[in-house]
Amino acid sequence: MTPRVRLQPEDVGVGMTGQRVRDRLIERLRENGIRDERVLAAIRAVPRHLFVDEALAARAYEDNALPIGHGQTISQPWVVARMTEAVLAGLPAIIDPAQPPKVLEIGTGSGYQAAILAALGVHVHTVERIGDLLRTARKRFRSLGLNVRSKHDDGRIGWPEHAPFDGILVTAGAAALVDALAVQLAVGGTLVAPVGGPSQQALMCVHRQEDGSFTSEELGAVVFVPLLSGVMD
Ligand code: SAH
Repeated sequence: MTPRVRLQPEDVGVGMTGQRVRDRLIERLRENGIRDERVLAAIRAVPRHLFVDEALAARAYEDNALPIGHGQTISQPWVVARMTEAVLAGLPAIIDPAQPPKVLEIGTGSGYQAAILAALGVHVHTVERIGDLLRTARKRFRSLGLNVRSKHDDGRIGWPEHAPFDGILVTAGAAALVDALAVQLAVGGTLVAPVGGPSQQALMCVHRQEDGSFTSEELGAVVFVPLLSGVMD
């Protein structure tokens, strides 16, 4: 399927933000085990350089996390790809635009992970505790024509009014899985979350079974900024 993202001529990028550089990132993701062509197409289509400060735009298609202010980071493309693959694996192979699956993201940050999911036709719900980051992310969603619902809140409570979700992604690390989030997962749904200490976490993938119980597997080691409590402007 063609990723759904609306690009202005100036969004397309040239030189270090252009198509050749993006193609190299896609090759690198393939080499590092990303297999889902839908995910690779979305990463190719969504201009990551618009999700970082202009001064960092030339580094946007390296496979690295980058600072976005307030001590936070935009995740590394490989991590975004892996988490998106894990969530998509639990969804229908062909996404019906009339009945899009609902996915909850905790930690909007730059908005990049949410944009990748929205470009895939998922109805994204995203929660961010830092108001300033959320306002900037919302501008990006609007200018790229992406359908994302967002709120300024402590994401550890999830978004119970819109539960259950077919997928949940937590993009900040915590010492343990947050129970309030797991119960907002639909039967058959997948939750992906980094779990562990401050310097490194295991990317955990949790599936909700038909009988309501949970099974989990580990997808590898990752490094995320911490999941914090409360909100700030
Ligand atoms: N998904 C983001 C990655 C952002 S980094 C992206 O694609 O850019 C993690 C984000 O989680 C930060 O913006 C941080 O402020 C946010 N965060 C941390 N704890 C949170 C919480 N309890 N609720 C909501 N957001 C949280």
